[in-house]
Formats: sequence, C-alpha cells, structure tokens
Amino acid sequence: MTDLGPEALFRLDGRVALVTGASSGLGVAFARAFAAAGAQVVVAARRAALLDETVAAIEDAGGQALAVKADVSDPAQCRAAVGHAHDRFGRVDILVNNAGVGTAVPATRETPQEFRAVVDVNLHGAFWMAQACAEVMPPGGSIVNVASVLALTTAGLPQAAYTASKAGLLGLTRDLAQQWGPRKGIRVNAIAPGFFETEMTEQYSADYVDTVITPRLLLGRFGSPTEIAGVGVWLASPAGGFVTGQTIVVDGGMSVT
Ligand code: NAP
Repeated sequence: MTDLGPEALFRLDGRVALVTGASSGLGVAFARAFAAAGAQVVVAARRAALLDETVAAIEDAGGQALAVKADVSDPAQCRAAVGHAHDRFGRVDILVNNAGVGTAVPATRETPQEFRAVVDVNLHGAFWMAQACAEVMPPGGSIVNVASVLALTTAGLPQAAYTASKAGLLGLTRDLAQQWGPRKGIRVNAIAPGFFETEMTEQYSADYVDTVITPRLLLGRFGSPTEIAGVGVWLASPAGGFVTGQTIVVDGGMSVT
C-alpha cells in the first residue's frame, strides 16, 4: 500500500485529463479543478471560442490545457480528440464524460429525431469517448461519467430521452467497470448531479424551481459547479483508487426526499 498524505491523496500531478463539455457549466468547473489538482487538461466541445476561455482560465491559474473542438456524437471526432490529447501531452489518464444536452418534450409528441439527438450525445457520445480513451489509457486510468439524478428519480418535466440516456449511462458505467477493471486496470464511475446553476438549468421557470424542485432540496438551494468538481477529482485521484462501477449522487439530498 502506498502511504500518501492528505494532500497527495487528491493530487493528479503528471496525469492528463480529458473533459468533454468544458465550454460551459459543470465542464468548466471540472476542467479547472483537475488543473488545480495538477493535471494537464484537454477540454473538448463544439464551441471553440468558449473552450479557449476555459484554457485561458486554466493557464492564468498556472496550469496547462489544450482546447479540442469536437462533437461527441461523432465517433470519428471522439477518436480525433483523443489523438490530439495524446499527441500534445503524451498520455490520457482520465476521461470526464460531461458533455450533455437536455430537452423536455411530452413523450406522445417526441419525434425520433428529437429522442435520438439526446441519446446520441448523452449516451452514445460517452461510449465513443470511453472507447477511444481506453485504447491509450494506462493502468490506473479513470473514467467519470456525468449522469443525472434523473437516472434515479423524476422531477416533474417530460424528459424521457434525457432520463433514459442518463439511466443508460449508469448501466454503461457498470459494464465498462467490469470489462476494463480486471483487463486494463481502468476504474469507471458515474456522478449523478442534482440541480446546479448552469446554462442547462437557467431555462427552468421560477415557478417550476420554487414549487417542484426547491422543496425537495434538503439543502434548500441549487449546487454551485465547484461543489461537484471536487467529487470528480476525488474519483480520479489516488483517494478514489478502490472505487469502481459506482454512482456517486451529488444532489443536495433531492433523491432521498
Ligand atoms: P451546459 O452548461 O449546458 O453544458 C453542456 C456542455 O455539453 C457544453 O459544454 C456543451 O458544449 C457540451 N455539449 C453538448 N452537446 C455536445 C456535443 N454534441 N459534443 C460535445 N459537447 C457537447 O450544462 P451543464 O449543466 O454544465 O451540464 C453538464 C453535464 O451535467 C451534462 O451531462 C448534464 O446532463 C449533467 N447534469 C447537469 C445538471 C445541472 O443541474 N446543471 C444536473 C444533472 C446532470 P458545446 O455546446 O460547446 O458543444
């Protein structure tokens, strides 16, 4: 057993982390937290200008980062993103599958295109990225899939595609953990966020938030992105070294109400 002090337990020095959806919201917080923990960070999403802002914030804080424009619903772009990360930093140890889209459409009216578009990003995209990373990820690697509390409960809106995609991501997490733990030494876990202040949740009406969501939050408020980023760092760090196949719920208590 390696005896690490409390600070080293959570350090990621010398490691390379690829964070998808790091052009806004939780992805920016994950990227900045991984960099602060010592990792070199590759940020991927479709909006290149926003990715550059994430890179600038990391570099301003003394870290190293690379922006890679990629649509995770395209397997070829996922492979290319991992290739760029590997070319620049020589390795990829950590993948945070954070890119996601949400919709609210009554199930009777939801078109095949609408349903597929959500699953293509949230579930298929996570798999394409995991597959591409697993090709190069060394033993000790860690994949963190960002699911949702909606994989475990309901929240009043009609979100069949989103909920199915996120529940699927928990199944994917378990299966990749059982395939790649013994064979590759890669741990695979999921985080199920509750409600956080991001672009995704700012579309909700004040009435929905006040009457449906807030009464279910034991802490009485939405989470701040920094309150989830540390959970990602923990899962990828030596402190999380014996955790695999798990879903960590970070929801201010919503799922137990
Ligand atoms: P957000 O601010 O809307 O961020 C979503 C990110 O995903 C953006 O960076 C977006 O970047 C990226 N993305 C979307 N489609 C993509 C694609 N096809 N290819 C690559 N990147 C794509 O939302 P957020 O709240 O931070 O969400 C982050 C993750 O947390 C999502 O998986 C979401 O489902 C999950 N989550 C969030 C909450 C919450 O309360 N905020 C709750 C539960 C789960 P581009 O548009 O630049 O591509």
